[in-house]
Amino acid sequence: MPLLDFQCNKCGIKFDELVYSSQMDKVRCPECQSRDIKRIYEGKCYFGMLGGLSDSGGCSGKSCSGCSGCGH
Ligand SMILES: [Zn+2]
Repeated sequence: MPLLDFQCNKCGIKFDELVYSSQMDKVRCPECQSRDIKRIYEGKCYFGMLGGLSDSGGCSGKSCSGCSGCGH
């Protein structure tokens, strides 16, 4: 059972959830109970996906070669 990282699109908090892949659509924000959540990924792309640029070599959100953290 993987520990996945999520962020709520509604209130913006991040949280970890132990979830089977078959239960992905049942994950809710623990704060506001919203299902409007997205998965976030640890790694270089983390900052790019949040809309900011990292000067530590992370991707810009467009290309991600060399990053193993996401599928960009
Ligand atoms: Zn929320």
